[in-house]
Amino acid sequence: MPQAGTPAGSMARYERLFIGGAWVAPEDGGLMESIDPSVGRPWAVVAYGGRCDIDKAVAAARDALDGPWGRMPGHERAALMRRFADLYKERARTLAMLETRDSGRALRESLLDVGGHSNGYHWWASLADKASGRTIPFDDSVHAFTSRVPVGVVGAITPWNVPLMAAAWKLGPALAAGCTVVLKPAEHTPVTSLELGRLFEEAGFPPGVVNIVPGYGKDGAGEYLVAHPGVDKIAFTGEGATAKAILRTGAETMKRFTFELGGKSPHILFADADLEQALNAATNSAWTLCGQSCALGSRVLVQRPVYDRVVEEFARRAARVRVGQPMDEATHMGPQAHAEQLAKTLSYIDIGRNEGAELVAGGNRLGGAGLDGGYFVEPTVFAGVSNAMRIAREEIFGPVAALIPFDDEDEAVAIANDTSYGLTAGLWTGDVGRAHRVANRIRAGMVWVNTYRFIRWSTPYGGFKASGWGRENGIEALESYLETRTTVISTTGRFA
Ligand code: NAD
Repeated sequence: MPQAGTPAGSMARYERLFIGGAWVAPEDGGLMESIDPSVGRPWAVVAYGGRCDIDKAVAAARDALDGPWGRMPGHERAALMRRFADLYKERARTLAMLETRDSGRALRESLLDVGGHSNGYHWWASLADKASGRTIPFDDSVHAFTSRVPVGVVGAITPWNVPLMAAAWKLGPALAAGCTVVLKPAEHTPVTSLELGRLFEEAGFPPGVVNIVPGYGKDGAGEYLVAHPGVDKIAFTGEGATAKAILRTGAETMKRFTFELGGKSPHILFADADLEQALNAATNSAWTLCGQSCALGSRVLVQRPVYDRVVEEFARRAARVRVGQPMDEATHMGPQAHAEQLAKTLSYIDIGRNEGAELVAGGNRLGGAGLDGGYFVEPTVFAGVSNAMRIAREEIFGPVAALIPFDDEDEAVAIANDTSYGLTAGLWTGDVGRAHRVANRIRAGMVWVNTYRFIRWSTPYGGFKASGWGRENGIEALESYLETRTTVISTTGRFA
């Protein structure tokens, strides 16, 4: 059984996996340490699963699907989901604090994010008895109709930047559709996903509906889950290279896939925009999650008449960001979530300098004044960036904004679309015609106009191009956890 609180100085212990409704010791996995990125030291000992543990979790999920969960009417599944959502709301502050401890995300952000998940689970619960088919007209000799049935056992594989959100985006629609789930959180941030097991237990879910097995990716629980013939679908959030490896492994068993991958989103500021609002959004989106979000507007495209002012404001505001211990609610930006990500961000800052971009703010790792040992980095701004530079083309996943000038609408659209990604985009303008014209030309799954990063359970979210397959959130997500079965019944009893 995991424990949420830990006396100062001692390690939190999460030494069991949640499989088949019970807390069990790993059979061929083991124990790993989770690092607190604000100090660079382990803070929790966590169980991880091996191949046998995944076998057990998949078997438990299959039993639940063939048994009580599969037979449960939608409205009863909905009632259980609502109970879970209410418990989630009661526990949201604790969950947010644990998420911050494990991932380094500033607590003020975790509270906002995690505080909204309960509403999302309620929304999904409201869809649990709504998946209906249709009748298909033909002639008097047959009655043909479709039914929507759960896709089956889902392997949900989540990343380290937003563990609870990524889990909610998969568990919500999967459970609403009637699927069962094996959740495999990222090895860097396993703690809050295990905490969910306690809520499912308390809510009274039948054993095996949700199983939680932290573990490693390649050659670990993640890869076993993808290869497992008992798993029908993989819902994955993470890197494109991992998605390709998952595709290759999962092809053997013809799995269904949803992929939420990276982004290099254009955030376009036209000169006719409400510049104060646009700057608020653009700077906020550059530092949120310490830059570790796929949706951030990491390419800020600025029309030339306001370019110098935007550069100046970005630099001024970067210097004002309060970087500090993430558990302090006054902190705006915590550390990077792990040491490899810190190294990656610092290496891209060097790349930007060497490519000839102008560093106008930040650019360094931060230490001292209570930050020693943590993976802190300054909010960083590059001006004079061309879209050909690597800092404009590759996902950095750190607090690094690249400011790119443009002249007119056509050039803005051309730069915005000149990327292998297509996840999100934002544009700011005072001209409603331009808003429609430009939004309509952008190749991205989500376009925000005069706002940014408005994401809710009801708004479909996902990528064009290398940013993914399928959608999370919205009715579209529910669809991706359902199969269509067509039934044809002869009304004459004759074989036609
Ligand atoms: P990652 O691909 O390294 O890891 C994601 C998960 O996959 C982890 O649980 C990991 O253990 C597992 N994994 C790794 N190799 C595997 C394999 N061979 N088989 C099965 N599982 C495997 O990604 P990350 O570094 O944790 O996350 C960062 C990435 O996630 C960024 O690229 C970011 O843009 C993306 N992301 C996208 C969205 C979105 O909604 N589009 C949201 C958040 C993060």
